[in-house]
Amino acid sequence: MRRAIVMGGSYAGLFAARVLSDYVEDVMVVEPDEIGADGVGRRVPQRLQLHALLSMGHTQLERWFPGITDELVKGGARLGEGRDVRFYVDGRLKAPVAGTRMLGATRPFLESHVRRRVDGLPNVRLVQAEVTGLVFDGSRVGGVVTGDGEIWEAELVVDAMGRSSRLVEWLTGHGWDEAPVDRMRIDLGYATAMFRRGDELDSLVVAHSSPGPASDYSPEVTEPGALTAVEGDRWSVVLAGYADYRPGPDPEEFLRRMRRCVAPLRTVADDCAMIGDVKTYRFLESRRRVHSRLSRFPGGLVVLGDALASVNPVYGQGLTLAALEANALAAYLRSGSPWRDPAWGYFRLAEAVVSGAWQLSTAADLAQPHVTGPYPRGYRVQKWVADKLTEASVLDSVVNTAYMGVVNMQQPPTTLTDLRLLGRAARVLLRR
Ligand SMILES: Cc1cc2nc3c(=O)[nH]c(=O)nc-3n(C[C@H](O)[C@H](O)[C@H](O)COP(=O)(O)OP(=O)(O)OC[C@H]3O[C@@H](n4cnc5c(N)ncnc54)[C@H](O)[C@@H]3O)c2cc1C
Repeated sequence: MRRAIVMGGSYAGLFAARVLSDYVEDVMVVEPDEIGADGVGRRVPQRLQLHALLSMGHTQLERWFPGITDELVKGGARLGEGRDVRFYVDGRLKAPVAGTRMLGATRPFLESHVRRRVDGLPNVRLVQAEVTGLVFDGSRVGGVVTGDGEIWEAELVVDAMGRSSRLVEWLTGHGWDEAPVDRMRIDLGYATAMFRRGDELDSLVVAHSSPGPASDYSPEVTEPGALTAVEGDRWSVVLAGYADYRPGPDPEEFLRRMRRCVAPLRTVADDCAMIGDVKTYRFLESRRRVHSRLSRFPGGLVVLGDALASVNPVYGQGLTLAALEANALAAYLRSGSPWRDPAWGYFRLAEAVVSGAWQLSTAADLAQPHVTGPYPRGYRVQKWVADKLTEASVLDSVVNTAYMGVVNMQQPPTTLTDLRLLGRAARVLLRR
């Protein structure tokens, strides 16, 4: 293939460019945002929120950018192993997980390393411009138009423009149908603050506390929240809450809520100085577009990252999904499918990955009292089993290793229906 254009140069666009560089002579990444030295930019405000990279996301990062973990760690990121990574449910520390590894870094720091690597590829160009429309060549996309009216031809165009992508508008304007959307309204509030980091928590890198099935759980007793040790000797701390219980920007209120969290967050609230402001973010709904439900779609066009699917950030899946969708693109390009045809092969693979993340996040969200569906068939039984498994995962390493394998997107959700695992969970609960 002679040229591919990636619209959007954030995390998903950079991964797509890396994959395409193996198959295409000339890869152009078109991104309007000017990313300053702080790595933040204007157009992706969630970059300022705590970003956890799931184990599978880390594996894919190292796969496509070998040696990047060492670079990140040399620059100040932290690599947590074993008990340096702690997960809590209803305020209780979960059983240890075999082989845990998680990276502690801010999103701008992580992404700036990925951008530098992609920028260094000989056949990739990063171009600062805004895409304003598509160019069609019969029933396929033949390129893009940028803000200055310039037309850039390409054999393959990738939409990595995030949740605010205007692709649907451009397609429907040319007589194509909109890909059906699944939505779940969750009304999540997020707030992140930075703190100076000393040796108050030894080698801890990640502490993550979520609500679970305990009947005596109440957010006033143990707040959900997380912290990560990041570059620059800082802690990144996030608090989350739904509907009317969303955290606000007031630092005193933030500290009060941290003092109702699990022990590591309480320690940071008491011992460490807050740096800068509390940054808030409101996330109204999870959504995914299902292109395989369409009967026609233009050739030469694929969609990935948040433009394809964006789920509740509490589960930390977005960056990992983007990387796995880039893998789907690699598999599609490797398959030798004629790229002039609609990329159904790509969409099927990418949607299989999205489906796992969607099942996991929406099943957990439906347990929130203010989330009103849609409920999948058999939801009550699924929830009962999931609650029991969560309970057993607090007590037993084997159950928790399988459970966290799914949470970390290393295993599909069906792993949790394995009869031997369910039997073990039942025995653990009975023994208790
Ligand atoms: C509060 C919050 C917390 C999160 N926490 C986590 C976490 O802990 N772990 C995790 O893995 N994920 C997390 N996520 C999800 C993660 O942020 C997203 O999944 C990720 O940003 C998706 O990357 P993307 O490249 O698809 O889209 P984006 O990062 O949104 O980037 C889209 C890019 O497209 C560009 N663009 C837009 N329009 C145009 C145009 N017309 N022409 C050219 N370019 C254009 C934009 O400038 C931007 O650079 C979180 C999300 C939120 C909201």
